[in-house]
Amino acid sequence: MDFNLNEQQRMLQRAAKDFAVRSIKPRAAEIDASGQFPFKLAKEIGKRGYQGLPYPTEYGGSGAGYLSYALALEQLCQASMTVGAIMAINTVPEEALFRFGNEEQKKRLLSPLARGEKLGGIAFTEAETGSDPKAITTASKKSGDGYIINGQKQFVALAPAANLALVFARGEGKRLNAFIVDTSSQGYNLREPCQTMGLKGLGTSVVYLDDVRVPKENLLGEEGQGFDILREAISLGRLGAAVEGVAVAQAALDVAIDYAKQRKAMGRAMAKLPTIQWHLAEMVSRVEAARLLVYRTAFARDQGQDIKYESSLAKLFASRIAVEVTGMAMQVGGSYGTMTTMPLERLYRDAKMTEIYVGISEIQRNIIAERLIE
Ligand SMILES: Cc1cc2nc3c(=O)[nH]c(=O)nc-3n(C[C@H](O)[C@H](O)[C@H](O)COP(=O)(O)OP(=O)(O)OC[C@H]3O[C@@H](n4cnc5c(N)ncnc54)[C@H](O)[C@@H]3O)c2cc1C
Repeated sequence: MDFNLNEQQRMLQRAAKDFAVRSIKPRAAEIDASGQFPFKLAKEIGKRGYQGLPYPTEYGGSGAGYLSYALALEQLCQASMTVGAIMAINTVPEEALFRFGNEEQKKRLLSPLARGEKLGGIAFTEAETGSDPKAITTASKKSGDGYIINGQKQFVALAPAANLALVFARGEGKRLNAFIVDTSSQGYNLREPCQTMGLKGLGTSVVYLDDVRVPKENLLGEEGQGFDILREAISLGRLGAAVEGVAVAQAALDVAIDYAKQRKAMGRAMAKLPTIQWHLAEMVSRVEAARLLVYRTAFARDQGQDIKYESSLAKLFASRIAVEVTGMAMQVGGSYGTMTTMPLERLYRDAKMTEIYVGISEIQRNIIAERLIE
């Protein structure tokens, strides 16, 4: 792996940073406080081409690749993890379509997502399970020229804005099917929003599917292939969550450094205190190590490699250090760090989400350990 970014990647990184600092960061606190989905920013991300970075031009993308995707996402997440997560989640149905869709599906369904004209979510989790695909009860039955889906999904992010959802439902043979469902279909109903401690404004909601009719053209892959599709697409979701972990930790480190330089303790800048310096050094070493894992995973995907193991490794580590680093930043900030006038407490709450959503850390450890002992 070449550790130097090429000119195109550096330009993309700079442009994403400029956009994030000017247009996203000033709104981050308000999105968090109101919990309202940022519709305009979501559109803007699409218009700027951030939703299609990994995918070829014939499917609406720019072909910049997965490392470029990670670089841009990192900048957006540093400004607001919620806004960055909109980009990361949309990539999950995109990846499913790219890897398992037929040519017609890629043109019809992937292209508008990659061009940013439409937004896609994923509906896997249910009241009884977020970790065990065997416990999914949402059911799909063949009917006429398509399928009818019935069930309830929990924690569906982007729900108020998504035009399409990658829905997992049990087939009549009991294996999982994956469908791309048009969210304007009759019977696809948003219920109450889920009030989570972090990632506020992500539109995370309960969705009911009551006799939702899906044309057979929207079945992804073969019947019963849903679990394979989930594992493949969610590995991109895990890469995204790992990027979020790195970004939120970096954002907290930046705030902690500024604060330590400005605040006086015992007549000198707090940054001169050995305990504060210890915190800062620990923070940066963890952020840098996690970033390398994340970039390596994205690079491997650019080489066409399977990243199920690497993305679990990256997510497990990056989410853990996100919690640790934002916690240390809070410590550096003292009581001021806990105040809502500073971004640290938001970063701390957002960091915890990366250990839970897109698969809990326990599941990542299971995946990693299985590879080690196979
Ligand atoms: C903000 C947010 C957005 C989300 N967005 C989406 C989305 O868009 N689409 C979607 O489908 N879901 C989404 N989710 C759901 C999320 O991915 C799941 O909630 C998550 O994967 C955990 O599942 P669970 O809550 O059912 O936890 P459970 O599976 O009930 O696990 C709870 C705890 O039990 C233990 N445990 C469970 N299984 C095991 C195991 N096999 N080995 C060891 N310990 C275990 C662990 O300690 C774990 O932390 C979102 C969640 C949040 C909070």
